[in-house]
Order: sequence, then C-alpha cells, then structure tokens
Amino acid sequence: MTTDQTSAVQMTNDHKVGAQRKPTLAVWKFASCDGCQLTLLNCEDELLSIAGAVDIAYFPEATRAVAEGPYDVSLVEGSITTPHDAERIREVRAMSGTLVTIGACATAGGIQALRNLTDVYEFRSIVYAHPEYVQTLDRSTPIAAHVDVDLELRGCPIDKGQLLETLAALLAGRKPRIPTYSVCVECKKRNNVCVAVAHGTPCLGPVTQAGCGALCPSFSRGCYGCFGPQDSANLPAMTDRLRAQGMREPEVVRLYRTFNTGAEAFRAESARVATHPAAAHPAASTQTTRGSAEEAPA
Ligand code: SF4
Ligand code: SF4
Ligand code: SF4
Repeated sequence: MTTDQTSAVQMTNDHKVGAQRKPTLAVWKFASCDGCQLTLLNCEDELLSIAGAVDIAYFPEATRAVAEGPYDVSLVEGSITTPHDAERIREVRAMSGTLVTIGACATAGGIQALRNLTDVYEFRSIVYAHPEYVQTLDRSTPIAAHVDVDLELRGCPIDKGQLLETLAALLAGRKPRIPTYSVCVECKKRNNVCVAVAHGTPCLGPVTQAGCGALCPSFSRGCYGCFGPQDSANLPAMTDRLRAQGMREPEVVRLYRTFNTGAEAFRAESARVATHPAAAHPAASTQTTRGSAEEAPA
C-alpha cells in the first residue's frame, strides 16, 4: 500500500488541542539507526512546547515511562527485516490513530534494502557462527508494504522543520504542508549557484523530493538523493546528464543505490543502467567526476 501525500491527514476532534485530554504520541523503532528519532530529540527549542501539547506515551529512546495504548499519533522509524517485525508493525498499526513513517528506512527500506539485490542468507552464513539463530527476511521493506500509512516524511534523516510542521498540523487538525516538488525548486528559492551547471558536480536534485531546503547544494555539494525520488522524476534524463558529466555506468548505479535503493524509481533506473552493456565494460572516461555526489556513502 502506498501513501497519498496529497490527502489530508486529520485528527478527530477529540485529538485536537483544546479537547479534554492531550493527544498521545508514540515513537516506534524497527530496523534503523535511530537518527530520525534523534531529530525529534534535537528539537531543543521546540521540545518543551511539544511536550506541553502532547503526552509522550511511548518513546523508549527518550524515556522508560510507558503509557498503554491506543495512541493518537505514532511515528514509525525503520524498515521491516524480520518475521517478528512484520507481526509487530501490524500491532502498532492496530493501536495507532494516525501513523506517520519517518525517514528513508521506513519509507523505502533504507540502506539495508541493498540486501534486496543479493542473497542475504549467504551473508548471514558468512557473518554469523550460528546463522540458524538469526531470524531474517530476504528483503528490507518499507512500512507501507505491510500496513496502511497516513503520511510519509522522507530523508536520511528527516528534516526537523517537516517533523514540526507535521506535528503542528496534526494537532490543529489540518493537512501538513509537505512539498512534493524537487530539490531544485528549493535550491532556486535559496538563490544557490547550481553546482551541476557551474562546476559539473553530479547532483540528483532534479529527481529528488524536496524537504531538506537544498541542504547539500547550499554547501556547494551535489544532492545524493536522501529524500528519495520525486513523484514525476525523469530518471532516464537524469542518467543521461550524469553520463554527460563523465560518470560511468557503475558510478551511476552506485549513486542511485544508497539510502533509497528500495524506492521504486531509483530501483528501476539503477537496474536499467546496471544491465546496460556499457555497465559490464565501462569505457574509461575522459572526464573526471567532481564534487560530492560520487563520494556519497553506498
Ligand atoms: S532514515 Fe537514515 S537517519 Fe533515519 S533511521 Fe534510517 S538510516 Fe537512520
Ligand atoms: S545544484 Fe542540484 S539541486 Fe540545485 S539547481 Fe542545480 S541540479 Fe538542482
Ligand atoms: S540535498 Fe539531497 S542529499 Fe542533501 S539533504 Fe537534501 S535530499 Fe538529502
């Protein structure tokens, strides 16, 4: 199941500020690094206001105090990688009013979705002395592949401003303002010099969903797509541009296969490029790729 980011996400009147009780917030972790939960904890200036507006009922990263569900809002970090988690997310869904997935792990399977491209059981047998004790699924999948999701926040990690906007909107019973255009739009709004045009730096901004405020180009670095593919991204044109900048096929594939390797548009384009004859015998490029995008972690 996929999330319609354009649909309104509203809490019931009972859940709005000013009702009899404060709404309850739960924060859940699946396969992830905790970085997106830390974004909530890093809302230093706003944390007291958040704590005043909601009851933080379940948030093991922040407190051992646990209030029983159901919960009005659940923030879910991480992907589904084990049979136990595939069951647990259904329980979380059942006890949640509005369920918001946070980060590339939860919305696309995360960097751990690289396992989807190979045989995870072979890795398991190499890494662990007793692989029979390690329960795992052969794929890392986003939360929306298992249960209905009301809203997705992209990024690795998520953007603090988008998280606060989402919580404020849910409390007010209105639709969160989450842009669906590309990073290039944000980049132009900030009057950045385009690193791709000015310096020949590979940049996935044209095909990546906005939300970070064009963070990397603002520091003269290329975007490496951590917010995942934008809705109407033209990936073949992006690939042509990267090739024209001197990137060889394996480099292009590697650029698409990072935090959002499991996002369908990046997955499909990287598979198409990987099977291109030139990917097997890439010609030595006469140009050197510059900037940060090719330095992105893979
Ligand atoms: S999306 Fe990135 S920051 Fe968030 S949990 Fe996953 S790896 Fe960590
Ligand atoms: S630097 Fe990247 S994000 Fe900014 S306008 Fe150029 S291509 Fe788009
Ligand atoms: S510019 Fe791209 S890589 Fe950098 S934070 Fe934004 S979406 Fe992520």
